[in-house]
Amino acid sequence: MNTIAESFSVAFAMITHLDPRVTAIVALSLGVSLTSTLCSAVMGLPLGAAIVIYGAKKGQTVSMLDKTLNTLEFFEKESCGKCVPCRLGAQQLRHFADALHHNRVPLQKVKETIPALAGVMKVASICGLGRAASTPFATWLEYFSDEKK
Ligand code: SF4
Repeated sequence: MNTIAESFSVAFAMITHLDPRVTAIVALSLGVSLTSTLCSAVMGLPLGAAIVIYGAKKGQTVSMLDKTLNTLEFFEKESCGKCVPCRLGAQQLRHFADALHHNRVPLQKVKETIPALAGVMKVASICGLGRAASTPFATWLEYFSDEKK
């Protein structure tokens, strides 16, 4: 699995310092590392928040399901396990994305299952991590599921 930096070129980024009045929209070239170093280099300030818009490098295609799976693995590892919907839900999200990635489950089954699972996680998770963990998969299903047709 490639990292984002290996797969994508950055089009531009909007970077905000901890003081929200300090914001920059920065044109970036290929190969720029997406770290707080970027903000420091551009503004001389620590990173508060950043929105980065990126696309595939010229002549390459990128699997958005691959990136979705990467993000779901992050949520699974970050879940502290305190509440069941997040702990088991994050595992199931990663499981379904991995199964879809390796063609072990039909897309239709995923389309039927993930929205229900996401709904439970959103209403029953204690903190924002569990409430947000399904968003990458829901986004993939809404905008990028043609990859698996
Ligand atoms: S929703 Fe928050 S509190 Fe609950 S398991 Fe996930 S990370 Fe822990």
